[in-house]
Amino acid sequence: MAETLVLIEHDRQHAKRPSLHAITLARQLGGEYALLVLGHGLDEIAASLVSYGACAVLVADHPALAEPLADRYATVIVEAARKQGAKTLLGTSSTFSKDVLPRAAALLDAPMVTDVLAIEETDGSISYRRPINAGSILATIKVEGDRRVLTVRATAFEAPAANAAPCPTERFAFDATSLPSGMEFISREQRKSDRPDLTEARVVVSGGRPLKDKETFERLVGGLADALEGAVGATRAAVDADMAPNDYQIGQTGKIVAPELYIALGISGAIQHLAGIKDSRIIVAINKDPDAPIFQMATYGLVGDLHQIVPQLIELIRRS
Ligand SMILES: Cc1cc2nc3c(=O)[nH]c(=O)nc-3n(C[C@H](O)[C@H](O)[C@H](O)COP(=O)(O)OP(=O)(O)OC[C@H]3O[C@@H](n4cnc5c(N)ncnc54)[C@H](O)[C@@H]3O)c2cc1C
Repeated sequence: MAETLVLIEHDRQHAKRPSLHAITLARQLGGEYALLVLGHGLDEIAASLVSYGACAVLVADHPALAEPLADRYATVIVEAARKQGAKTLLGTSSTFSKDVLPRAAALLDAPMVTDVLAIEETDGSISYRRPINAGSILATIKVEGDRRVLTVRATAFEAPAANAAPCPTERFAFDATSLPSGMEFISREQRKSDRPDLTEARVVVSGGRPLKDKETFERLVGGLADALEGAVGATRAAVDADMAPNDYQIGQTGKIVAPELYIALGISGAIQHLAGIKDSRIIVAINKDPDAPIFQMATYGLVGDLHQIVPQLIELIRRS
């Protein structure tokens, strides 16, 4: 039995680092917590999770779960939460959890709070702080009932240490024949990239509208990212103009990043973009407009034409 059940995401080889940050909230909530991982061929991933202080790692490993179909996953997650008697079902804000966890909340008939940044405890009751209006307002909310589904912003919670005595891993048995069949897996298209994952990278270089086309974007944004061994991101304007693929988008309706170094090339600093980068440690902006809003958030700013500055920067970094 566990008070909290933490859903861990993986890329079929490793647990995704941001999803581990939800464990930090599980610790703050108190009580025992179990980790749940779903998929097929999970032995190594499950073994990597045993030292995070959980009471158990539950492993739902079955060919029927080889692809993350939301209706099946939500059903298995809810079954695991019920069997554990978990009051809180917890995941990290991500595309995957946006797909799966609202379904789980509906099946549990439980309220859901997304993008939790912090919790507050007053008189034994817990409230949750979350951003609204692209992060320009912080709301503190309470939920009714004794069960809830939460997602956390990974950037708001430290990575948990993996130094506890190993806990058991348990196969989570379920009836695969009774899983919903409303969704069918057709195919997977995955871009091969040697660059680090955007949400895990230490350095992120992003480009905006003035990058003009795919080739220029790749040469300048990709070139600087490669020189710094970083990941590539983009604004929605760059994605909409087909300079960069959709999964590069950073911001309110894209990914949230918190690298050591974020470099913004030709990005104005719209509130919806800033919502995705504000936890970055150092922000460097290159923009030809000295009044661009991005400079208000930037640690360092360079006023000038990126088409002239960036090639020189790449050359300098490569030489050094
Ligand atoms: C509901 C909603 C959700 C949204 N979600 C997101 C989101 O998740 N992510 C996101 O990014 N946006 C999002 N947007 C869009 C957002 O409002 C902005 O339109 C977008 O971020 C602007 O992108 P940009 O900075 O590339 O372009 P622009 O705002 O056009 O800025 C381009 C900048 O480049 C500078 N520049 C031009 N030429 C050069 C040059 N040669 N050298 C150097 N600098 C130059 C300009 O001075 C300007 O500051 C959302 C909008 C809405 C309404």
